[in-house]
Amino acid sequence: MIAFDFDYYKPETVHDTISLYEDLKNKGKKVMYYGGGTEFITMSRMNNIYADAILDIKGIPELNICKIKEEKLIIGAGVTLTKIAELDFFPLLSKTVKRIADHTVQDKITIGGNLVGSIIYKEAALPLLVSNSDILVGNKDGIQRQKLMEYWNKNLKDKEGDLIIQFIVDTRYLHLPYVHVKRTKNEKIDYPLISIAALKDGDRINIGFSGLCDKAFRSLDIEDILNDNSISDKERIHRIIQRVPYEIIEDIYGTCKYRKFMLSKMLEEIVDEFREDI
Ligand SMILES: Cc1cc2nc3c(=O)[nH]c(=O)nc-3n(C[C@H](O)[C@H](O)[C@H](O)COP(=O)(O)OP(=O)(O)OC[C@H]3O[C@@H](n4cnc5c(N)ncnc54)[C@H](O)[C@@H]3O)c2cc1C
Repeated sequence: MIAFDFDYYKPETVHDTISLYEDLKNKGKKVMYYGGGTEFITMSRMNNIYADAILDIKGIPELNICKIKEEKLIIGAGVTLTKIAELDFFPLLSKTVKRIADHTVQDKITIGGNLVGSIIYKEAALPLLVSNSDILVGNKDGIQRQKLMEYWNKNLKDKEGDLIIQFIVDTRYLHLPYVHVKRTKNEKIDYPLISIAALKDGDRINIGFSGLCDKAFRSLDIEDILNDNSISDKERIHRIIQRVPYEIIEDIYGTCKYRKFMLSKMLEEIVDEFREDI
């Protein structure tokens, strides 16, 4: 049971959603968007979050699109992980989302919710980051299309109230050689100890990480090291581990030392897999 009362709204357009959000916020209300609702329901039942009003965004047409148009794959932020996997336009993304939670929960979780919710892993971001995707965001200043990588690195405060509308992927990335590897502590279905998605664009490997730090990330600095063929695999992997841009997590799933060990094994696997692909 949810122990607090809240108002429920189901706006039908992007414009109405943003105006309603601003209006309620200006009245001092705590407002949340409601995609799949998995995080909202779980956390509100445990009294970990509170909202005066929720805006159910599932009825907005732009958020429910998943199609290829003019050499771009457009994925609405309200599309569920199940639908993304079933349509399978982008095999790296399909493979990644199939390892998030179980089938029942995948049927509810939306890709927008996975990327902006408060659970740190955000694994669905990795394929989108490594494919240089764009994001379409709406807020009181209008609708802006920007590079996901730039948006990803902005402060949370600067993103407050943003409605994520769509992700846009250039079709040339969809069928590049790819690898997705996820390691968990015990079960196959669990939060990641480390999850990595990578694709090979020409001679260059693009790579993103989740579970390693408290933020999912893609680092161009790490990619430069990974793609430096003048040094041995062993040395490259050693340097990458030194250059992880955020603090490596130490928690019940694994120590920092164990994660470093695991990371080196996973990187070896990925380098070998792409080498076999040549
Ligand atoms: C059992 C379980 C297992 C999980 N396992 C994993 C895992 O292995 N790996 C992983 O990466 N994640 C995992 N997750 C995290 C999950 O992907 C997130 O909790 C995600 O938020 C759920 O999406 P939702 O659509 O249900 O979000 P909701 O509960 O609807 O919303 C969550 C938050 O996102 C915001 N939001 C939602 N959509 C939008 C939008 N379009 N624009 C702006 N803000 C929006 C809401 O305001 C809210 O703050 C797991 C979650 C559960 C419940």
